[in-house]
Amino acid sequence: MSSDCRNHFATLAVHAGASPDPVTGARVTPLYLTNGFAFETPEAAADIFALRKSGYSYARGGNPTGAVLEKRIATLEGGTNAVAIASGQSALLVILLTLLKSGDEYVSANRLFGGSLGLMRRLEERHDLKVTFANPLDLDAFAAAVTERTRAIVIESIVNPSGDVVDIAAVADIAKKHNIPLVVDNTLATPYLIRPIEYGADIVFHSLSKFIGGHGQVIGGIIVDAGKFNWAGDARYPLLSEPWEDYGGIVLSEKFPQTAFGVAARVYGMRDLGPGLSPFNAFLALTGTETLHLRMPRHVANAQAVARHLASHPAIAEVSYPGLEGHPNHPLVQRYTPEGPGAVFTVRVKGGETAAKHLISTLKIFSHLANIGETRSLIIHPATTTHKNMPPEERIAAGLGPDVVRLSIGLEDAADLIADLDQALAG
Ligand SMILES: *Cc1c(COP(=O)(O)O)cnc(C)c1O
Repeated sequence: MSSDCRNHFATLAVHAGASPDPVTGARVTPLYLTNGFAFETPEAAADIFALRKSGYSYARGGNPTGAVLEKRIATLEGGTNAVAIASGQSALLVILLTLLKSGDEYVSANRLFGGSLGLMRRLEERHDLKVTFANPLDLDAFAAAVTERTRAIVIESIVNPSGDVVDIAAVADIAKKHNIPLVVDNTLATPYLIRPIEYGADIVFHSLSKFIGGHGQVIGGIIVDAGKFNWAGDARYPLLSEPWEDYGGIVLSEKFPQTAFGVAARVYGMRDLGPGLSPFNAFLALTGTETLHLRMPRHVANAQAVARHLASHPAIAEVSYPGLEGHPNHPLVQRYTPEGPGAVFTVRVKGGETAAKHLISTLKIFSHLANIGETRSLIIHPATTTHKNMPPEERIAAGLGPDVVRLSIGLEDAADLIADLDQALAG
């Protein structure tokens, strides 16, 4: 990206979707803690309920604080609209339930956030949403997993926790060949590092709990609709292409051609299922977006410095960070995120699980907790926590054996982080 484009991003990160409050002049987007919105007339109420007019009715379907967050993230990602939701998990859940019905099949990357893998397994066991897992770093194997029965593809742009970058454009080509939507979890990259829609993604989602919120305060998620997939007349996706009888027979792909997926995710996902994002969490996440373009370069620079140091440390067997030259994934880093592949990666500690747990317990600046992507540096042992539910062989294939710890590098001084790791590894 040129520096002009970067300036543009910075300005949008601060301003997109927001303007002074028309009634009070309040400059910060107010926190609208109201669950109901008074209708002007009975006709207006009926129109809003039937989706004939836009407007607020009851905050389960959306609220004005969340709406500013939705416009901002949609703008930063280059989508046409977005839906703010209770968590990253519920973002994935609502996307899958909006696209698929019981018995439908989809293909997912097998390198994913542990919570996403667990959700997908349970949805298959209990609701018959059939998932085929394939390695997104092996494009031939990934392409071979997609059949004419596949209804969607799900990948992460930067893989949690290895930090590997996926060739989004190549996966988008596979999706286009089969005329199915590509869903990208962009949590580890944020739109500052990678904008998947530019490479062909149809739906992008985030956990706001990580870098976008950025301060370890909120659980939240957001779904961004690129507005590009042509759902019209496509019987594979009935929520998008068939009449909603209880809404006067409207067909979302006809009534909202640019925003059909977002509208479906809002009406089915939020109004029916109910996991909206609270205005308070939207308010905090919105504050986070205003410094995203300042925090991400520092996260990445610190991660690069820590990874480089650990790569030559005698107590460390391996560092997964593909920002390091010579790493097999490095060419994709240079293509998709030349500034660096985020700030989450794993290391293998010599001395196995005992040494890994000793490192975790001896660090002073790093916090031992399950989050990633916040101001503070964090560490965890995935094999016994976040990824413990994976079958052991799969876990090791995904680079998460018993000797592995996951690091999320924060915004402290890199020299202090390196000194902390050195003192803990000296033991
Ligand atoms: C944390 C995370 C999620 C889930 O988000 P929550 O807000 O914790 O529900 C999904 N994807 C990735 C890549 C994550 O890191």
